[in-house]
Amino acid sequence: MSGTSNTTEGLYAAAKNVVADLASKLSSNSKIVTEQDAEFKVLHERWTNIGKKTPAAIVAVATEADVQETVKLCVAHGVEFVPKSGGHSLWSTIGAEGIIIDLTAFNAVVVDKEARTVTVSGGSQIKDAVAPLYKAGLCAPFGTANTVGSVAQAVNGGLTIFSGILGQTSDAILSARLVTAAGDLITVSATSHPELLYAIKGAGTYFGLITSLTFRASPLSVLNSPDGTIWKTAAPFPAARIGELISALAPLAASPEPRAAGAMVITKSPHGDGSTIVLASLIFFGSSEDANAHFAPVKALGPFVWGEKRVSYANINDDFDPFCVTGGFKRHIVAGVPRVPGEPAVWEAEVKAYESFIEKEGAQAARSMACLMYVGKGEAGRWEESAYGHRNVAAWIEAVCWYTEEKSYEAAWEWQVEALRIVTERYEVGETETFQNSQRETPIESRFPGEGRLEKLKTLKREWDPKGVFTDVLL
Ligand SMILES: Cc1cc2nc3c(=O)[nH]c(=O)nc-3n(C[C@H](O)[C@H](O)[C@H](O)COP(=O)(O)OP(=O)(O)OC[C@H]3O[C@@H](n4cnc5c(N)ncnc54)[C@H](O)[C@@H]3O)c2cc1C
Repeated sequence: MSGTSNTTEGLYAAAKNVVADLASKLSSNSKIVTEQDAEFKVLHERWTNIGKKTPAAIVAVATEADVQETVKLCVAHGVEFVPKSGGHSLWSTIGAEGIIIDLTAFNAVVVDKEARTVTVSGGSQIKDAVAPLYKAGLCAPFGTANTVGSVAQAVNGGLTIFSGILGQTSDAILSARLVTAAGDLITVSATSHPELLYAIKGAGTYFGLITSLTFRASPLSVLNSPDGTIWKTAAPFPAARIGELISALAPLAASPEPRAAGAMVITKSPHGDGSTIVLASLIFFGSSEDANAHFAPVKALGPFVWGEKRVSYANINDDFDPFCVTGGFKRHIVAGVPRVPGEPAVWEAEVKAYESFIEKEGAQAARSMACLMYVGKGEAGRWEESAYGHRNVAAWIEAVCWYTEEKSYEAAWEWQVEALRIVTERYEVGETETFQNSQRETPIESRFPGEGRLEKLKTLKREWDPKGVFTDVLL
């Protein structure tokens, strides 16, 4: 380390030295901003203000060379850094001892129609990739949020509504370029460092700063519609009917139908009348007739509205935009369970817990929600083994808090823990899994389950990042 010490002042000074050194080394489109600069506020915005810190500087890189230079200099000076792309996680923030490498301007997307691939730069968001893919008559299994970083979502496993047909997002990764902890820029593929390809498909952010990812793309026809559209509905019911809804939905969620995905969401009515509703948010890759036949048991319950529509692949995430906005205090935690929890009493208890949280914290917390989600499974063994270890999850239980008054922190956390407990206590210890795109405080075995997976990843981590430049997770 040059001129630093382990004192707080030493660390702050080291970060400042790196920033000063970088100024002359980065490309003309890059930017370095500190709290004093007008642009800082915008670049510092995040999906959630929970845990938000103020870094020594934000280095907004524009090229692969910028990324490599910044990582090398930080490593050489012993300065901590965090990459930030979509800013939707709790982890891309750091205090005055470190810097944020902001990748948002580094967002090129190249679709190769002939080779059926899409290559995204390290900071591109899901919406940047989906639109040009659709234009080329192709699709890839990205996540359900336009502004989430396409790299971070994919390399942390990548839950997706497309999984029954196309696998998890990480299953579609063909290759990557990344800057290692040693500052080298390497290509990772089936023929170049193949052992790292395993790691990148589920634990990628712990092994390097990924400057680009290439995904397999598939013709839109795999979506089982002639025009690249997908069938969707959002059918609301009064919360008092949750027992009937879960009784109709659970057998569908447990069925092996790869064309369907769905969620059951407990939240407050968007009409602001204070009532709690339960929403069946359903997706089907196929004709509207087949979709209606598949979901007939839900439709037969008579929701307020059935609200079905067909949405193009390019716009599949648009309904979710209101949930992607920056600011406020939000956090999602999830638990994966091996059997769909279909007992009405469990979900009636969920509604009760949700209502007592909102009653206590008031309308400013009313956009919080508790959900059951399931995605198509696809046939076992179809996808290569990788760091993603959640193939046995039948359904995910999610609790999302969203409040605007910071004082609600404790109450929100207590409710979230309780919301997961209500469902997961029915399973044996070790049967419940957690997802590292959502939480990173849970036991690591629950994030990388499966025989030999964790050991293999730990061995790779010791080889590629022994000092924990990209966090000490897996060390
Ligand atoms: C509204 C919403 C919807 C979501 N939907 C889905 C979904 O459908 N499927 C799913 O799987 N997950 C989903 N998630 C979870 C989401 O994928 C993770 O939170 C993801 O980490 C966010 O990525 P980001 O780039 O937006 O966030 P960031 O906070 O910018 O980055 C997330 C993590 O990745 C690191 N990172 C970012 N870019 C790089 C890079 N190029 N190289 C190396 N490390 C990098 C950051 O340091 C941080 O640790 C959703 C989250 C939200 C808030």
